[in-house]
Amino acid sequence: MNQESNMSANSKTDQSASALAQVPIENAKRWPDLNYFNKIIYGASSLAKGMKITFGYLINTKTVVTQQYPENRETLILADRVRANLIMKHNENGYHDCTSCHICEGVCPNASIHVVDRSEPTVSKKELGYFVWRLDSCTFCNLCVMACPFSCLEMTGQFESSTYDQSLLVYNLNQYSGATQNNLAKLADDQARTSAIKAISPYEGPVALEGYHLAGIPKEFLPQKSDAKTSQAREGVNP
Ligand code: SF4
Ligand code: SF4
Repeated sequence: MNQESNMSANSKTDQSASALAQVPIENAKRWPDLNYFNKIIYGASSLAKGMKITFGYLINTKTVVTQQYPENRETLILADRVRANLIMKHNENGYHDCTSCHICEGVCPNASIHVVDRSEPTVSKKELGYFVWRLDSCTFCNLCVMACPFSCLEMTGQFESSTYDQSLLVYNLNQYSGATQNNLAKLADDQARTSAIKAISPYEGPVALEGYHLAGIPKEFLPQKSDAKTSQAREGVNP
């Protein structure tokens, strides 16, 4: 930088410094300078101001601007970026694209995904058996969704999963065990496709905290809490 530009820069700095110096600075008092009784009056009037707003909302509820959940549950609008329950996408005929490649399982930073290969694949070399997802440990980081090469996964806005039993926060996301929709489409007819897949049944392998939640599976098919495998899982055996 030459001398001229240095001088120009210095003069700009001086100008901004002098501009800053002209801004009046006031130290606001946190508490007005009042005597004891006036402080009580000041406090009471301040309280009355707040209560006026509160009672105003009570009388005229239309003026409330915050969203009242769960009262507004039916009309609740969530932002697109909200990430809650993970789902596996299935097409209109109920088929998925998961090749059981285990990539999502590998990228999950806290082992919330457990992919189990189908023990006896019928159409391709490798087929999905169970896709187990643990909501209780998921941080909704979206890594699994981004890593899936076949866009099988999606974060939904469904966030109402509260339960008194943490074990119920383990989900099975695939609706059937078997090949992807593309591989199944290579089969001759519907009957061949139906026999090439297996309706999902309760996952029987160990999962941490023993939980299961299988959408659409009747309760009588769900494992009992006394099940030896699930008890073992509660003791800390990871998927
Ligand atoms: S969102 Fe993150 S933490 Fe949750 S299952 Fe996917 S990769 Fe794992
Ligand atoms: S969901 Fe995607 S990344 Fe995960 S096993 Fe299936 S195909 Fe692979």
